Amino acid sequence: MHNPAEAVPPPWMTADHTALFDAAARFAREVIAPNEERWRREHRVDLATWRKAGDLGLLATDIPAEYGGAGGDFSHEAVIYRGMAQAADSGFLVGRGVHSIVAGYVMEHGTPAQKSEWLPRLASGESVGAIAMTEPGAGSDLKGMATRAELRDGRYVLQGAKTYISNALNMGLLIVAARTQGPGSAGGITLFLLDPRGMPGLTVGRVLDKMGLHSQDTCELFFEDCRLDADAVLGGEPGRGLHQLMGQLPVERSILGVTAAAQMAHAVRLTYAYARERKAFGQAVGQFQHIRFRMAELLTRSAAATVFMDHVVQMRLLGKLDAATASMAKWWVTDTYCNVVDECLQVFGGAGYMNEYPIARMYADARVMKIFAGTNEIMKELIARWADASA
Ligand SMILES: Cc1cc2nc3c(=O)[nH]c(=O)nc-3n(C[C@H](O)[C@H](O)[C@H](O)COP(=O)(O)OP(=O)(O)OC[C@H]3O[C@@H](n4cnc5c(N)ncnc54)[C@H](O)[C@@H]3O)c2cc1C
Repeated sequence: MHNPAEAVPPPWMTADHTALFDAAARFAREVIAPNEERWRREHRVDLATWRKAGDLGLLATDIPAEYGGAGGDFSHEAVIYRGMAQAADSGFLVGRGVHSIVAGYVMEHGTPAQKSEWLPRLASGESVGAIAMTEPGAGSDLKGMATRAELRDGRYVLQGAKTYISNALNMGLLIVAARTQGPGSAGGITLFLLDPRGMPGLTVGRVLDKMGLHSQDTCELFFEDCRLDADAVLGGEPGRGLHQLMGQLPVERSILGVTAAAQMAHAVRLTYAYARERKAFGQAVGQFQHIRFRMAELLTRSAAATVFMDHVVQMRLLGKLDAATASMAKWWVTDTYCNVVDECLQVFGGAGYMNEYPIARMYADARVMKIFAGTNEIMKELIARWADASA
């Protein structure tokens, strides 16, 4: 069953994109699907899988070739999320999204030395990226973060705690946000780059027990007298963190929108196939008019989400993706996906509540999309502010 919107491909789609999509879809079938149960048990994707993705050219496709990437752009990243969404598990997809966001920070804001040091490792999967902004006392309100980095004898000393950090067991490059001036000072947040493996003063806490996304290694981090050289400052200039975050968060939101739209399409496909097979009262449940109409609605919403995200990709390629449009994509597509996957699950009846069915896992994994990368309420606040400013 095809999405009718796909009859007119987006302007950025080329034969290269189709090949990349096929490679990502093969990765979903041959690597993600056979391993997802084990990953969910172990609460992490194994590092060998990250290396494999790197070897296959499925990481950092938008990073220039001189830094080990594929020299593509966001459209290449978008087709990878679409291909990988052919498997039900979100653990690698979400982890890869965070990894790509981290690469984006280094590419956009790193010094030449930082780019040379980190980007090739991110592209090969040798280092998995993680980013730590959220704290037990500060999530939406990033300016309220309390983790401090004090300059002592030419080195920064980090103290504080972060929570809900994705890729935390696997990480080989961590970007951590810390306050380098007094509270409330917008200019006082700095992003630091560090290799967390064996770093004195950094403790990775337990894997957090989540309602879904069981194959993601989401943990707390504790910094106690964690000493960093001055060249760990992203871009070399302290106090630029908030500016860097504000620049990259729309990127993060566009990645999430693409992922949610792709998973939505997959959920609808699975549901359509099930409704044709499952019999009740002597016919396929998909023959009942209520379910026929429901499927028609789900297909329509999925097509609209795909077209919206195609447009967002195009805006990014043109360098015109603004914070308001990225926020619209993030809240609307993730909200629509959560509603769609709920209705899909209903079509499966009791089977939809069983974890052995992918739709049950997709339902549980989807929910966090309305929360992370900025809650959907914060997205609406940003859009409303933009509307006021542009009225
Ligand atoms: C599985 C998972 C993975 C994550 N991964 C990462 C990661 O890798 N790195 C990282 O740094 N963080 C990560 N996060 C954290 C995530 O980004 C935050 O949870 C999110 O930003 C919300 O912050 P909070 O949980 O503190 O909620 P709060 O800020 O406490 O918000 C509570 C409620 O109040 C609402 N609210 C807050 N302020 C406003 C306002 N001004 N107007 C209207 N409503 C408002 C919120 O929308 C929400 O409904 C992750 C979270 C989860 C659950």
